[in-house]
Amino acid sequence: MGALLAALVAALALAPSAGAFAVFPRFDELASRYAGRPVEVRCYDLDEWHADFPGLSVWGYTAFRGDEPQYVVLAPTTCLYMLWLVVDPNDRLATKLNGPWTRVEMGRGLLALLHESFHMTGDTNESRVECRAVEALPSALDSLGARGAVRESVLAAALAFHRQLPAVYQGGC
Ligand SMILES: [Zn+2]
Repeated sequence: MGALLAALVAALALAPSAGAFAVFPRFDELASRYAGRPVEVRCYDLDEWHADFPGLSVWGYTAFRGDEPQYVVLAPTTCLYMLWLVVDPNDRLATKLNGPWTRVEMGRGLLALLHESFHMTGDTNESRVECRAVEALPSALDSLGARGAVRESVLAAALAFHRQLPAVYQGGC
């Protein structure tokens, strides 16, 4: 019984590293534009993400090897709301699902993607990277084609989220 359990655990531990993430070209395009270099944005699946960040509120990170940024990883929910924003930036579907709470998640997702994009320049200073991400919000929303009410509510949500972040992310401008 002990041997079986050990074998199962070993198999589970190996399985997620076989590529439990998705990539979406629009995310790569957006990140690459702000990073000024080609960027791969990996959307980890829920199991992979929870293995890395059990019980923590983390929206994304940039993987470094030494001083060299390698790729961006986003949480599954960050990717989901970013996909929604990319696919329907003006709420043409009007499903009523796209309400205030959804816009908050879209704002968080966009700010997280931009923040990590600026880390891909090699900059590890959190407040400076966050400042650049906040400044990039309007142009990123424009490039996604967001207008009117969606644009304004996602922008407001992202700025409100930024203001709630710890001191290490503030005052970088
Ligand atoms: Zn950061």
